[in-house]
Amino acid sequence: MTPTPRSTSLNADRRLRDLEAVAEGTAVDLLVVGAGVTGTGAALDAASRGLSVLLVDRHDLAFGTSRWSSKLVHGGLRYLASGDVAIAYESARERDLLMRRTAPHLIRSMPMLLPLHAQVSPGQAALARTGFAAGDLLRAFARTPAGVLPRSRRLNAVHTRALAPGLEATGLRGGLLSFDGQLVDDARLVVALARTAAWHGARVVTRCSAQELRGDGATLRDELTGQTLEVPARAVVNACGVWAGKLASQVRLRPSRGTHLVVPASALDHPHAALTVPVPGSVNRFVLALPQMGGRVYIGLTDEPVDGIPDVPRAPESDITFLLETVNRALHRPLTRDDVIGTFAGLRPLLDTGERGRTADVSRRHAVLVSDDGVVTAVGGKLTTYRAMAEDAVDAAVRTAGLPAGPCRTTRLPLVGAASRRTLDEVSGPDSLVARYGTEAPRVLALAEGRPDLLGPVAAGVTGAELLFAVRHEGALDADDILDRRTRIGLVPADREEALPFVESLCAGV
Ligand SMILES: Cc1cc2nc3c(=O)[nH]c(=O)nc-3n(C[C@H](O)[C@H](O)[C@H](O)COP(=O)(O)OP(=O)(O)OC[C@H]3O[C@@H](n4cnc5c(N)ncnc54)[C@H](O)[C@@H]3O)c2cc1C
Repeated sequence: MTPTPRSTSLNADRRLRDLEAVAEGTAVDLLVVGAGVTGTGAALDAASRGLSVLLVDRHDLAFGTSRWSSKLVHGGLRYLASGDVAIAYESARERDLLMRRTAPHLIRSMPMLLPLHAQVSPGQAALARTGFAAGDLLRAFARTPAGVLPRSRRLNAVHTRALAPGLEATGLRGGLLSFDGQLVDDARLVVALARTAAWHGARVVTRCSAQELRGDGATLRDELTGQTLEVPARAVVNACGVWAGKLASQVRLRPSRGTHLVVPASALDHPHAALTVPVPGSVNRFVLALPQMGGRVYIGLTDEPVDGIPDVPRAPESDITFLLETVNRALHRPLTRDDVIGTFAGLRPLLDTGERGRTADVSRRHAVLVSDDGVVTAVGGKLTTYRAMAEDAVDAAVRTAGLPAGPCRTTRLPLVGAASRRTLDEVSGPDSLVARYGTEAPRVLALAEGRPDLLGPVAAGVTGAELLFAVRHEGALDADDILDRRTRIGLVPADREEALPFVESLCAGV
Protein backbone atom coordinates (compact mmCIF):
# COMPACT_ATOMS: atom_id res chain seq x y z
CA MET A 1 0.00 0.00 0.00
CA THR A 2 1.34 3.48 -0.88
CA PRO A 3 2.53 5.27 2.29
CA THR A 4 0.65 8.36 3.47
CA PRO A 5 2.40 11.76 3.16
CA ARG A 6 3.78 13.19 6.42
CA SER A 7 1.18 15.91 6.80
CA THR A 8 -1.49 16.88 9.29
CA SER A 9 -3.76 18.15 6.52
CA LEU A 10 -7.00 16.28 5.95
CA ASN A 11 -9.16 17.18 2.96
CA ALA A 12 -11.26 15.72 0.14
CA ASP A 13 -8.20 14.89 -2.03
CA ARG A 14 -6.44 13.04 0.74
CA ARG A 15 -9.64 11.16 1.60
CA LEU A 16 -9.88 9.98 -2.02
CA ARG A 17 -6.23 8.89 -2.13
CA ASP A 18 -6.64 7.03 1.16
CA LEU A 19 -9.78 5.28 -0.07
CA GLU A 20 -7.98 4.22 -3.28
CA ALA A 21 -5.11 2.84 -1.20
CA VAL A 22 -7.57 0.92 0.98
CA ALA A 23 -9.29 -0.49 -2.12
CA GLU A 24 -5.97 -2.12 -3.16
CA GLY A 25 -6.85 -4.73 -0.53
CA THR A 26 -3.58 -4.82 1.44
CA ALA A 27 -4.24 -5.61 5.12
CA VAL A 28 -3.80 -2.77 7.63
CA ASP A 29 -2.48 -3.53 11.11
CA LEU A 30 -5.42 -1.82 12.82
CA LEU A 31 -8.84 -0.72 11.61
CA VAL A 32 -10.51 1.75 14.00
CA VAL A 33 -14.23 2.32 13.49
CA GLY A 34 -15.72 5.55 14.86
CA ALA A 35 -13.94 8.92 14.86
CA GLY A 36 -15.07 10.37 18.18
CA VAL A 37 -12.54 11.10 20.89
CA THR A 38 -12.06 7.37 21.59
CA GLY A 39 -11.48 6.32 17.97
CA THR A 40 -9.24 9.25 17.03
CA GLY A 41 -7.32 8.69 20.30
CA ALA A 42 -6.87 4.99 19.43
CA ALA A 43 -5.78 5.84 15.86
CA LEU A 44 -3.14 8.24 17.19
CA ASP A 45 -1.97 5.76 19.81
CA ALA A 46 -1.58 2.94 17.26
CA ALA A 47 -0.06 5.04 14.46
CA SER A 48 2.50 6.55 16.84
CA ARG A 49 3.52 3.01 17.86
CA GLY A 50 4.42 2.38 14.22
CA LEU A 51 1.30 0.41 13.19
CA SER A 52 -0.49 0.99 9.88
CA VAL A 53 -3.92 2.38 10.77
CA LEU A 54 -7.19 3.04 8.99
CA LEU A 55 -9.73 5.18 10.88
CA VAL A 56 -13.25 5.45 9.45
CA ASP A 57 -16.42 7.23 10.46
CA ARG A 58 -19.89 6.84 9.03
CA HIS A 59 -20.40 10.61 9.09
CA ASP A 60 -17.66 13.02 10.15
CA LEU A 61 -15.00 13.54 12.81
CA ALA A 62 -16.74 14.20 16.16
CA PHE A 63 -20.16 13.45 14.73
CA GLY A 64 -21.36 11.60 17.86
CA THR A 65 -21.36 12.23 21.61
CA SER A 66 -17.89 13.82 21.59
CA ARG A 67 -19.29 17.12 20.30
CA TRP A 68 -22.17 17.29 22.79
CA SER A 69 -20.17 17.27 26.04
CA SER A 70 -19.99 20.00 28.71
CA LYS A 71 -16.47 20.68 27.36
CA LEU A 72 -14.93 20.15 30.80
CA VAL A 73 -11.63 18.43 31.44
CA HIS A 74 -12.57 17.03 34.84
CA GLY A 75 -10.29 16.46 37.77
CA GLY A 76 -12.38 13.52 38.97
CA LEU A 77 -13.90 15.12 42.05
CA ARG A 78 -17.28 13.46 41.57
CA TYR A 79 -15.60 10.03 41.50
CA LEU A 80 -13.93 10.80 44.83
CA ALA A 81 -17.38 11.55 46.24
CA SER A 82 -18.47 8.06 45.27
CA GLY A 83 -15.28 6.57 46.76
CA ASP A 84 -13.70 5.59 43.42
CA VAL A 85 -10.19 6.85 44.13
CA ALA A 86 -8.50 5.08 41.19
CA ILE A 87 -10.77 6.62 38.53
CA ALA A 88 -10.57 10.01 40.28
CA TYR A 89 -6.77 9.87 40.15
CA GLU A 90 -6.86 8.76 36.49
CA SER A 91 -9.00 11.80 35.62
CA ALA A 92 -6.70 14.19 37.49
CA ARG A 93 -3.61 12.69 35.82
CA GLU A 94 -5.15 12.85 32.32
CA ARG A 95 -6.30 16.43 32.98
CA ASP A 96 -2.73 17.33 33.86
CA LEU A 97 -1.38 15.74 30.66
CA LEU A 98 -3.95 17.53 28.52
CA MET A 99 -3.46 20.93 30.15
CA ARG A 100 0.31 20.90 30.31
CA ARG A 101 1.58 18.67 27.53
CA THR A 102 -0.77 17.33 24.88
CA ALA A 103 -3.31 20.12 24.32
CA PRO A 104 -2.57 23.25 26.41
CA HIS A 105 -3.77 25.44 23.53
CA LEU A 106 -7.30 23.99 23.66
CA ILE A 107 -7.82 24.08 27.44
CA ARG A 108 -7.96 26.88 29.94
CA SER A 109 -8.39 26.92 33.68
CA MET A 110 -12.05 27.56 34.52
CA PRO A 111 -13.12 29.11 37.85
CA MET A 112 -16.16 27.22 39.20
CA LEU A 113 -18.32 28.93 41.79
CA LEU A 114 -20.76 27.30 44.21
CA PRO A 115 -22.88 30.19 45.51
CA LEU A 116 -23.93 29.80 49.13
CA HIS A 117 -27.61 30.71 49.16
CA ALA A 118 -30.18 29.50 51.68
CA GLN A 119 -30.69 26.26 49.72
CA VAL A 120 -27.10 25.25 50.59
CA SER A 121 -27.11 24.56 54.35
CA PRO A 122 -23.95 25.25 56.41
CA GLY A 123 -23.54 21.46 56.70
CA GLN A 124 -23.69 21.02 52.91
CA ALA A 125 -21.27 23.91 52.47
CA ALA A 126 -18.81 22.29 54.89
CA LEU A 127 -19.13 19.01 52.99
CA ALA A 128 -18.51 20.76 49.67
CA ARG A 129 -15.47 22.55 51.15
CA THR A 130 -14.04 19.18 52.24
CA GLY A 131 -14.69 17.83 48.74
CA PHE A 132 -12.86 20.76 47.14
CA ALA A 133 -9.93 20.27 49.54
CA ALA A 134 -9.80 16.62 48.41
CA GLY A 135 -9.84 17.91 44.80
CA ASP A 136 -6.82 20.08 45.65
CA LEU A 137 -5.05 16.99 46.97
CA LEU A 138 -5.84 15.10 43.77
CA ARG A 139 -4.43 17.98 41.76
CA ALA A 140 -1.27 17.91 43.85
CA PHE A 141 -0.93 14.11 43.43
CA ALA A 142 -1.28 14.59 39.67
CA ARG A 143 1.50 17.24 39.95
CA THR A 144 -0.58 20.02 38.39
CA PRO A 145 0.96 23.29 39.60
CA ALA A 146 -1.27 25.85 41.32
CA GLY A 147 -0.21 28.24 38.54
CA VAL A 148 -2.17 26.05 36.12
CA LEU A 149 -5.11 25.22 38.39
CA PRO A 150 -5.27 27.39 41.52
CA ARG A 151 -6.28 26.05 44.94
CA SER A 152 -9.93 26.17 45.98
CA ARG A 153 -11.02 28.80 48.50
CA ARG A 154 -14.01 30.41 50.15
CA LEU A 155 -15.11 33.88 48.97
CA ASN A 156 -17.21 36.48 50.70
CA ALA A 157 -20.49 37.66 49.15
CA VAL A 158 -18.91 40.73 47.52
CA HIS A 159 -16.20 38.73 45.75
CA THR A 160 -18.74 36.08 44.81
CA ARG A 161 -20.96 38.62 43.05
CA ALA A 162 -17.94 40.26 41.43
CA LEU A 163 -17.29 36.93 39.69
CA ALA A 164 -20.94 36.33 38.90
CA PRO A 165 -22.92 39.60 38.93
CA GLY A 166 -26.14 37.83 37.91
CA LEU A 167 -26.39 36.00 41.23
CA GLU A 168 -29.26 36.82 43.58
CA ALA A 169 -27.76 38.99 46.34
CA THR A 170 -30.45 38.35 48.96
CA GLY A 171 -29.33 35.64 51.36
CA LEU A 172 -25.97 35.14 49.61
CA ARG A 173 -23.42 34.19 52.33
CA GLY A 174 -20.50 33.90 49.92
CA GLY A 175 -19.24 31.25 47.54
CA LEU A 176 -16.86 28.32 47.20
CA LEU A 177 -14.41 28.75 44.36
CA SER A 178 -12.59 25.84 42.72
CA PHE A 179 -10.89 25.33 39.34
CA ASP A 180 -11.12 22.74 36.59
CA GLY A 181 -10.12 22.51 32.93
CA GLN A 182 -12.36 23.81 30.14
CA LEU A 183 -11.97 22.92 26.46
CA VAL A 184 -12.39 25.72 23.94
CA ASP A 185 -14.44 23.11 22.14
CA ASP A 186 -14.70 19.31 22.33
CA ALA A 187 -14.95 18.78 18.55
CA ARG A 188 -11.67 20.68 18.10
CA LEU A 189 -9.93 18.19 20.40
CA VAL A 190 -11.18 15.35 18.17
CA VAL A 191 -10.06 17.13 14.99
CA ALA A 192 -6.62 17.77 16.52
CA LEU A 193 -6.35 14.08 17.46
CA ALA A 194 -7.31 12.95 13.94
CA ARG A 195 -4.83 15.32 12.30
CA THR A 196 -2.04 14.30 14.65
CA ALA A 197 -2.83 10.65 13.89
CA ALA A 198 -2.69 11.53 10.17
CA TRP A 199 0.78 13.03 10.72
CA HIS A 200 1.85 9.67 12.14
CA GLY A 201 0.58 7.96 8.99
CA ALA A 202 -3.01 7.01 9.88
CA ARG A 203 -5.48 7.07 6.99
CA VAL A 204 -8.57 8.98 8.09
CA VAL A 205 -11.67 8.40 5.97
CA THR A 206 -14.95 10.05 6.91
CA ARG A 207 -18.32 9.25 5.25
CA CYS A 208 -17.27 5.61 5.37
CA SER A 209 -19.38 3.26 7.48
CA ALA A 210 -18.67 -0.19 8.84
CA GLN A 211 -21.44 -2.56 7.79
CA GLU A 212 -19.99 -5.55 9.55
CA LEU A 213 -16.94 -6.16 11.76
CA ARG A 214 -14.83 -9.30 12.08
CA GLY A 215 -11.65 -9.94 14.03
CA ASP A 216 -9.74 -9.93 10.70
CA GLY A 217 -11.39 -7.01 8.94
CA ALA A 218 -14.65 -5.40 7.99
CA THR A 219 -17.11 -4.65 5.26
CA LEU A 220 -17.06 -0.89 4.74
CA ARG A 221 -19.21 1.37 2.58
CA ASP A 222 -18.17 4.67 1.05
CA GLU A 223 -21.24 6.74 1.94
CA LEU A 224 -20.49 9.23 -0.85
CA THR A 225 -20.50 6.68 -3.69
CA GLY A 226 -22.26 3.68 -2.18
CA GLN A 227 -19.24 1.50 -3.04
CA THR A 228 -18.65 -1.48 -0.73
CA LEU A 229 -15.12 -2.46 0.28
CA GLU A 230 -13.82 -5.58 1.99
CA VAL A 231 -10.94 -4.41 4.18
CA PRO A 232 -8.58 -6.95 5.70
CA ALA A 233 -7.11 -5.90 9.06
CA ARG A 234 -4.92 -7.71 11.57
CA ALA A 235 -6.91 -6.14 14.40
CA VAL A 236 -10.14 -4.16 14.69
CA VAL A 237 -11.24 -1.60 17.31
CA ASN A 238 -14.92 -0.72 17.56
CA ALA A 239 -15.08 2.85 18.95
CA CYS A 240 -18.66 3.63 17.94
CA GLY A 241 -19.78 5.03 21.30
CA VAL A 242 -23.53 4.66 21.81
CA TRP A 243 -23.70 2.79 18.47
CA ALA A 244 -21.05 0.20 19.49
CA GLY A 245 -23.67 -2.47 20.26
CA LYS A 246 -24.91 -2.39 16.66
CA LEU A 247 -21.58 -3.84 15.50
CA ALA A 248 -20.84 -6.04 18.54
CA SER A 249 -23.89 -7.89 19.79
CA GLN A 250 -22.38 -8.79 23.18
CA VAL A 251 -21.96 -5.09 24.09
CA ARG A 252 -24.99 -3.79 26.03
CA LEU A 253 -25.38 -0.05 26.61
CA ARG A 254 -27.83 2.05 28.61
CA PRO A 255 -27.58 5.47 26.98
CA SER A 256 -28.67 8.50 28.95
CA ARG A 257 -29.39 11.94 27.51
CA GLY A 258 -27.60 15.06 28.66
CA THR A 259 -29.05 18.37 27.47
CA HIS A 260 -27.45 21.83 27.46
CA LEU A 261 -28.93 25.24 26.71
CA VAL A 262 -27.12 28.10 24.98
CA VAL A 263 -27.87 31.59 26.32
CA PRO A 264 -26.13 34.95 25.75
CA ALA A 265 -23.69 35.81 28.56
CA SER A 266 -25.55 39.13 28.90
CA ALA A 267 -28.59 37.24 30.23
CA LEU A 268 -26.48 36.31 33.29
CA ASP A 269 -24.73 39.71 33.48
CA HIS A 270 -21.51 38.33 31.95
CA PRO A 271 -20.23 35.82 34.54
CA HIS A 272 -16.45 35.34 34.91
CA ALA A 273 -16.88 31.95 36.56
CA ALA A 274 -19.01 28.88 35.99
CA LEU A 275 -21.97 28.64 38.36
CA THR A 276 -22.67 25.39 40.16
CA VAL A 277 -26.31 25.25 41.27
CA PRO A 278 -27.49 22.29 43.39
CA VAL A 279 -30.45 20.30 42.04
CA PRO A 280 -33.17 20.37 44.71
CA GLY A 281 -33.52 17.07 46.56
CA SER A 282 -30.13 15.72 45.47
CA VAL A 283 -26.82 15.91 47.35
CA ASN A 284 -24.49 15.38 44.40
CA ARG A 285 -26.29 16.69 41.31
CA PHE A 286 -25.71 20.20 40.04
CA VAL A 287 -26.68 22.32 37.07
CA LEU A 288 -23.72 24.22 35.66
CA ALA A 289 -23.75 27.55 33.83
CA LEU A 290 -20.51 27.52 31.85
CA PRO A 291 -19.23 30.77 30.24
CA GLN A 292 -17.71 30.25 26.79
CA MET A 293 -15.50 32.35 24.57
CA GLY A 294 -17.58 34.57 22.30
CA GLY A 295 -20.13 35.76 24.86
CA ARG A 296 -22.23 32.64 25.31
CA VAL A 297 -23.05 30.49 28.35
CA TYR A 298 -23.91 26.78 28.17
CA ILE A 299 -26.28 25.58 30.88
CA GLY A 300 -26.38 21.85 31.59
CA LEU A 301 -27.03 19.16 32.13
CA THR A 302 -29.74 16.58 32.42
CA ASP A 303 -29.38 12.85 32.89
CA GLU A 304 -32.36 10.98 31.47
CA PRO A 305 -32.55 7.38 30.26
CA VAL A 306 -33.52 7.07 26.59
CA ASP A 307 -34.96 4.45 24.28
CA GLY A 308 -33.51 4.37 20.79
CA ILE A 309 -30.39 6.07 19.50
CA PRO A 310 -30.98 8.87 16.98
CA ASP A 311 -28.08 10.19 14.91
CA VAL A 312 -28.58 13.67 16.39
CA PRO A 313 -30.45 13.73 19.72
CA ARG A 314 -32.84 16.62 20.37
CA ALA A 315 -33.45 18.45 23.66
CA PRO A 316 -37.05 18.00 24.79
CA GLU A 317 -38.95 20.89 26.39
CA SER A 318 -39.00 19.00 29.72
CA ASP A 319 -35.16 19.13 29.86
CA ILE A 320 -35.18 22.83 28.97
CA THR A 321 -37.70 23.62 31.72
CA PHE A 322 -35.74 21.60 34.30
CA LEU A 323 -32.48 23.42 33.50
CA LEU A 324 -34.07 26.87 33.54
CA GLU A 325 -35.91 26.22 36.81
CA THR A 326 -32.78 24.91 38.51
CA VAL A 327 -30.38 27.65 37.43
CA ASN A 328 -32.98 30.33 38.19
CA ARG A 329 -32.83 29.38 41.88
CA ALA A 330 -29.48 31.18 42.04
CA LEU A 331 -30.14 34.15 39.73
CA HIS A 332 -31.28 37.68 40.41
CA ARG A 333 -33.14 37.93 37.08
CA PRO A 334 -34.66 34.57 36.19
CA LEU A 335 -33.94 33.33 32.66
CA THR A 336 -36.95 32.72 30.43
CA ARG A 337 -37.48 30.46 27.44
CA ASP A 338 -36.79 33.52 25.24
CA ASP A 339 -33.23 33.73 26.58
CA VAL A 340 -32.51 30.28 25.14
CA ILE A 341 -30.92 30.84 21.70
CA GLY A 342 -29.87 27.22 21.17
CA THR A 343 -29.91 23.77 22.72
CA PHE A 344 -27.87 20.60 22.30
CA ALA A 345 -28.16 17.09 23.65
CA GLY A 346 -25.84 14.09 23.68
CA LEU A 347 -26.11 10.46 24.70
CA ARG A 348 -23.72 9.04 27.28
CA PRO A 349 -22.36 5.69 26.14
CA LEU A 350 -22.84 4.06 29.55
CA LEU A 351 -22.26 0.36 29.91
CA ASP A 352 -25.20 -1.66 31.12
CA THR A 353 -23.67 -3.39 34.11
CA GLY A 354 -26.92 -5.18 34.83
CA GLU A 355 -27.35 -3.10 38.00
CA ARG A 356 -30.77 -1.69 38.73
CA GLY A 357 -31.19 2.03 39.17
CA ARG A 358 -30.92 5.22 37.17
CA THR A 359 -28.38 5.53 34.39
CA ALA A 360 -26.81 8.33 36.43
CA ASP A 361 -25.64 5.67 38.86
CA VAL A 362 -24.02 3.47 36.22
CA SER A 363 -20.23 3.60 36.36
CA ARG A 364 -18.47 6.17 34.10
CA ARG A 365 -15.44 3.88 34.03
CA HIS A 366 -14.43 2.81 30.51
CA ALA A 367 -14.46 -0.77 29.33
CA VAL A 368 -12.40 -2.62 26.74
CA LEU A 369 -14.14 -5.82 25.67
CA VAL A 370 -12.74 -8.46 23.29
CA SER A 371 -15.31 -10.55 21.40
CA ASP A 372 -14.83 -14.24 20.54
CA ASP A 373 -13.62 -13.37 17.02
CA GLY A 374 -11.14 -10.80 18.39
CA VAL A 375 -12.91 -7.45 17.74
CA VAL A 376 -11.93 -5.01 20.49
CA THR A 377 -14.72 -2.68 21.66
CA ALA A 378 -13.79 0.43 23.70
CA VAL A 379 -16.75 2.10 25.31
CA GLY A 380 -17.86 4.23 28.27
CA GLY A 381 -15.45 6.59 30.00
CA LYS A 382 -15.09 10.35 29.61
CA LEU A 383 -13.66 12.76 27.11
CA THR A 384 -11.04 13.64 29.76
CA THR A 385 -9.74 10.08 29.97
CA TYR A 386 -9.80 9.30 26.22
CA ARG A 387 -6.01 8.78 26.12
CA ALA A 388 -5.98 6.10 28.80
CA MET A 389 -8.97 4.44 27.15
CA ALA A 390 -7.25 4.50 23.75
CA GLU A 391 -4.07 3.05 25.26
CA ASP A 392 -6.05 0.18 26.83
CA ALA A 393 -7.86 -0.48 23.55
CA VAL A 394 -4.67 -0.55 21.46
CA ASP A 395 -2.91 -2.71 24.08
CA ALA A 396 -5.80 -5.19 23.83
CA ALA A 397 -5.63 -5.18 20.00
CA VAL A 398 -1.85 -5.67 20.04
CA ARG A 399 -2.17 -8.58 22.50
CA THR A 400 -5.08 -10.23 20.70
CA ALA A 401 -3.56 -10.05 17.21
CA GLY A 402 0.12 -10.31 18.23
CA LEU A 403 0.95 -7.05 16.44
CA PRO A 404 4.58 -5.88 16.34
CA ALA A 405 3.99 -2.59 18.17
CA GLY A 406 6.20 -0.55 20.46
CA PRO A 407 5.00 0.82 23.81
CA CYS A 408 2.37 3.56 24.03
CA ARG A 409 3.86 7.04 23.42
CA THR A 410 0.85 9.31 23.76
CA THR A 411 1.68 10.77 27.18
CA ARG A 412 4.56 12.54 25.44
CA LEU A 413 2.89 13.49 22.13
CA PRO A 414 1.64 17.08 21.79
CA LEU A 415 -1.33 17.42 19.44
CA VAL A 416 -1.13 19.63 16.37
CA GLY A 417 -1.08 23.31 17.47
CA ALA A 418 0.10 22.53 21.03
CA ALA A 419 2.95 24.35 22.77
CA SER A 420 3.87 25.54 26.24
CA ARG A 421 1.76 28.36 27.68
CA ARG A 422 4.76 30.72 27.30
CA THR A 423 5.15 29.89 23.59
CA LEU A 424 1.42 30.22 23.02
CA ASP A 425 1.49 33.68 24.63
CA GLU A 426 3.98 34.72 21.94
CA VAL A 427 2.03 33.37 18.96
CA SER A 428 0.89 36.28 16.82
CA GLY A 429 -2.82 36.55 16.14
CA PRO A 430 -6.01 37.36 18.01
CA ASP A 431 -6.46 35.51 21.33
CA SER A 432 -9.60 33.77 20.06
CA LEU A 433 -7.65 32.32 17.15
CA VAL A 434 -4.72 31.18 19.30
CA ALA A 435 -7.21 29.54 21.69
CA ARG A 436 -8.69 27.52 18.85
CA TYR A 437 -5.58 26.83 16.72
CA GLY A 438 -2.59 27.29 19.04
CA THR A 439 0.64 27.61 17.05
CA GLU A 440 -1.31 27.20 13.81
CA ALA A 441 -3.10 30.56 14.24
CA PRO A 442 -0.68 32.37 11.86
CA ARG A 443 -1.33 29.65 9.23
CA VAL A 444 -5.05 30.35 9.50
CA LEU A 445 -4.50 34.11 9.22
CA ALA A 446 -2.23 33.62 6.20
CA LEU A 447 -5.21 32.26 4.24
CA ALA A 448 -6.72 35.74 4.38
CA GLU A 449 -3.69 37.41 2.73
CA GLY A 450 -5.02 39.18 -0.34
CA ARG A 451 -8.54 38.02 0.63
CA PRO A 452 -9.96 40.70 2.96
CA ASP A 453 -13.37 38.99 2.71
CA LEU A 454 -11.91 36.15 4.80
CA LEU A 455 -10.69 38.36 7.65
CA GLY A 456 -14.02 39.45 9.10
CA PRO A 457 -16.38 37.34 11.20
CA VAL A 458 -18.95 35.35 9.24
CA ALA A 459 -21.06 34.59 12.34
CA ALA A 460 -20.47 34.02 16.07
CA GLY A 461 -17.03 35.66 15.80
CA VAL A 462 -15.71 32.99 13.40
CA THR A 463 -13.72 34.35 10.44
CA GLY A 464 -13.90 33.23 6.83
CA ALA A 465 -10.23 32.18 7.06
CA GLU A 466 -11.17 29.60 9.70
CA LEU A 467 -13.84 28.17 7.44
CA LEU A 468 -11.37 27.83 4.57
CA PHE A 469 -8.82 26.23 6.93
CA ALA A 470 -11.48 23.69 7.91
CA VAL A 471 -11.86 22.61 4.27
CA ARG A 472 -8.18 22.65 3.32
CA HIS A 473 -6.65 21.17 6.45
CA GLU A 474 -9.28 19.83 8.87
CA GLY A 475 -11.14 17.36 6.69
CA ALA A 476 -14.44 19.29 6.40
CA LEU A 477 -16.24 17.98 3.32
CA ASP A 478 -19.40 20.09 3.31
CA ALA A 479 -21.26 22.97 4.96
CA ASP A 480 -22.51 20.79 7.85
CA ASP A 481 -18.97 19.70 8.73
CA ILE A 482 -17.88 23.35 8.78
CA LEU A 483 -20.84 24.75 10.71
CA ASP A 484 -21.49 21.89 13.14
CA ARG A 485 -18.11 20.29 13.85
CA ARG A 486 -15.08 22.41 12.78
CA THR A 487 -16.76 25.50 14.16
CA ARG A 488 -19.79 25.52 16.46
CA ILE A 489 -21.67 28.21 14.59
CA GLY A 490 -24.49 25.69 14.21
CA LEU A 491 -25.20 25.58 17.96
CA VAL A 492 -27.32 28.71 17.53
CA PRO A 493 -29.80 28.34 14.64
CA ALA A 494 -29.83 32.11 13.93
CA ASP A 495 -26.01 32.13 13.58
CA ARG A 496 -26.19 29.07 11.32
CA GLU A 497 -28.66 30.78 9.04
CA GLU A 498 -26.49 33.89 8.89
CA ALA A 499 -23.36 31.93 7.95
CA LEU A 500 -24.88 29.39 5.56
CA PRO A 501 -24.74 31.43 2.28
CA PHE A 502 -21.05 32.31 2.84
CA VAL A 503 -20.19 28.71 3.75
CA GLU A 504 -22.04 27.29 0.76
CA SER A 505 -20.29 29.66 -1.62
CA LEU A 506 -16.96 28.76 -0.02
CA CYS A 507 -17.63 25.03 -0.46
CA ALA A 508 -18.63 25.58 -4.10
CA GLY A 509 -15.46 27.57 -4.80
CA VAL A 510 -12.87 25.30 -3.13
C1 LIG B 1 -24.17 15.49 27.68
C2 LIG B 1 -22.80 14.94 27.93
C3 LIG B 1 -21.83 15.73 28.55
C4 LIG B 1 -20.55 15.24 28.76
N1 LIG B 1 -19.63 16.06 29.31
C5 LIG B 1 -18.37 15.62 29.47
C6 LIG B 1 -17.39 16.51 29.96
O1 LIG B 1 -17.65 17.69 30.21
N2 LIG B 1 -16.14 16.02 30.14
C7 LIG B 1 -15.82 14.73 29.85
O2 LIG B 1 -14.67 14.37 30.07
N3 LIG B 1 -16.72 13.87 29.34
C8 LIG B 1 -17.98 14.29 29.12
N4 LIG B 1 -18.92 13.45 28.58
C9 LIG B 1 -18.53 12.11 28.16
C10 LIG B 1 -17.88 12.11 26.77
O3 LIG B 1 -18.45 13.10 25.94
C11 LIG B 1 -18.02 10.75 26.08
O4 LIG B 1 -17.61 9.74 26.95
C12 LIG B 1 -17.17 10.66 24.81
O5 LIG B 1 -17.35 11.78 23.98
C13 LIG B 1 -17.49 9.41 24.02
O6 LIG B 1 -16.73 9.42 22.86
P1 LIG B 1 -16.68 8.19 21.86
O7 LIG B 1 -15.61 8.48 20.88
O8 LIG B 1 -16.57 6.91 22.61
O9 LIG B 1 -18.11 8.19 21.13
P2 LIG B 1 -18.67 9.18 20.01
O10 LIG B 1 -18.14 10.54 20.15
O11 LIG B 1 -20.14 9.02 20.00
O12 LIG B 1 -18.08 8.60 18.65
C14 LIG B 1 -18.60 7.48 18.01
C15 LIG B 1 -18.43 7.66 16.50
O13 LIG B 1 -18.73 6.41 15.87
C16 LIG B 1 -19.31 6.70 14.61
N5 LIG B 1 -20.03 5.51 14.14
C17 LIG B 1 -21.12 4.93 14.68
N6 LIG B 1 -21.47 3.84 13.99
C18 LIG B 1 -20.56 3.71 12.99
C19 LIG B 1 -20.38 2.76 11.94
N7 LIG B 1 -21.20 1.72 11.76
N8 LIG B 1 -19.35 2.93 11.08
C20 LIG B 1 -18.49 3.99 11.24
N9 LIG B 1 -18.62 4.91 12.22
C21 LIG B 1 -19.64 4.76 13.08
C22 LIG B 1 -20.22 7.90 14.89
O14 LIG B 1 -20.53 8.62 13.70
C23 LIG B 1 -19.38 8.69 15.90
O15 LIG B 1 -18.63 9.72 15.26
C24 LIG B 1 -20.22 13.92 28.36
C25 LIG B 1 -21.18 13.12 27.73
C26 LIG B 1 -22.46 13.63 27.51
C27 LIG B 1 -23.48 12.81 26.80
